[in-house]
Amino acid sequence: MPITQVIDAPLDEEREAITAAAEALRNGEVVAIPTETVYGLAADAFDEVALAKVFEVKERPTLDPLIVHIGIKKDLNSVATIPDDIREVVKELTTEFWPGPLTLVLPRNPAIPDLVTSGLDTVAVRMPNHSVMKAICKEVGPLAAPSANRFGRISPTSASAVLDELEGRIPLIIDGGACHNGVESTIIHVEAGEKRPQFRLLRAGPVTKEELQKFGKVIKSGRVTDEKLAAPGQLPSHYSPETKFVLVEDIKNFVFEDGVKYGLLAYKGNAKEGYVDAHEWDAVEILSPGKGKLTEAAVRLFYSMRQLDASGVDVIVAEPVSETGIGVAIMDRLRRAAAEKD
Ligand code: AMP
Ligand code: MG
Repeated sequence: MPITQVIDAPLDEEREAITAAAEALRNGEVVAIPTETVYGLAADAFDEVALAKVFEVKERPTLDPLIVHIGIKKDLNSVATIPDDIREVVKELTTEFWPGPLTLVLPRNPAIPDLVTSGLDTVAVRMPNHSVMKAICKEVGPLAAPSANRFGRISPTSASAVLDELEGRIPLIIDGGACHNGVESTIIHVEAGEKRPQFRLLRAGPVTKEELQKFGKVIKSGRVTDEKLAAPGQLPSHYSPETKFVLVEDIKNFVFEDGVKYGLLAYKGNAKEGYVDAHEWDAVEILSPGKGKLTEAAVRLFYSMRQLDASGVDVIVAEPVSETGIGVAIMDRLRRAAAEKD
């Protein structure tokens, strides 16, 4: 079992960490790197041996494709082949949202290995808005990076969470502190559409439907004609704690069983509106301790889920958040955490 080294990347003194990560990646290693969404487990997007390690380390099925991260816009052409009918809208989207948490699913460049795309004709690509990740992508080139957790589990938003997930499985973690957004990127499949460009929303995230609507029509991922495209990555059960996890729409209808330890994942600190006073909880984590801010709740979501998972309770009860803006992404993650595993 390799020893996992953690290298600090303090603000304004990131060089050492960037050089170490770039060297490891060039040597065909996988490295956990901070991004603004969650920590990624990165490999050179053109190195099939390194890519295979990503799937092995994560125990991830190879039918689940990876997102390619780029550090400069011109690298988009080495990853994707952009047809004329969407060229304009891709330019608009990348100008508005990159670097940032928006992933575009586009026709692939044939040079991209099948392991990255699960053999699909499309590739998912984004430019991350994190100085460390961006600098490493600039030095090494496009990096394929899924979240740095074991498959199906909670995404890591700190270096210590990556250690919990992958210690002894990877050689290097770059510690860039907590992630600014806290949930994974928004993913859209970009099409020309009949009148306006059309974006099929494959995963809700920090870039909201409302923001995207300025550039085209946003449709739900359900209406898919191409079966191949719909198949990977849309797994209903995901982001799961090991502890039983339930999303309770109305606590008044919830039946607490005797002798069972319950933990609460609350939205607001305000007991009147939420579930804090509804039971003698064995553990409580509050996503937004003030009046409730969705952006703060997103940042704390996976951290709080991990805390409750480690607290020794038997059941985690999650309170819903308002389903607007980034709240759509939070509710998506809560529903998937609560979904039955196969
Ligand atoms: P992760 O890397 O764990 O954030 O997850 C990447 C997700 O991106 C996958 O699970 C898919 O849902 C999605 N994805 C990546 N590539 C494609 C693609 N070519 N078509 C559709 N979805 C994709
Ligand atoms: Mg993931």
